[in-house]
Amino acid sequence: MARLKPSQQNNHPSSVPADHSKLDHINTYGSLPEFYIDQPFTCRSCGKNEIWRARDQKWYYEEAKGHIDAAAVECHDCRKAKNQDGAST
Ligand SMILES: [Zn+2]
Repeated sequence: MARLKPSQQNNHPSSVPADHSKLDHINTYGSLPEFYIDQPFTCRSCGKNEIWRARDQKWYYEEAKGHIDAAAVECHDCRKAKNQDGAST
């Protein structure tokens, strides 16, 4: 998918504003996101296409303190399956 221009992203129906006060852990200059938008991605485990939702990105970066360069790589089902494996062993 081609990247949208900032003006287009800002008007995107799925856009969620970023809270920079919660992005202190991100060590970067000038490239903090202004907002998040739904991002389609392909699961690296099963190849399924899924959407990484804007509000999930906000949670991941702002509450879970994820790295800004990190992105979703596995679909919901694969992550769930892994968590269940971990719990049972
Ligand atoms: Zn998957």
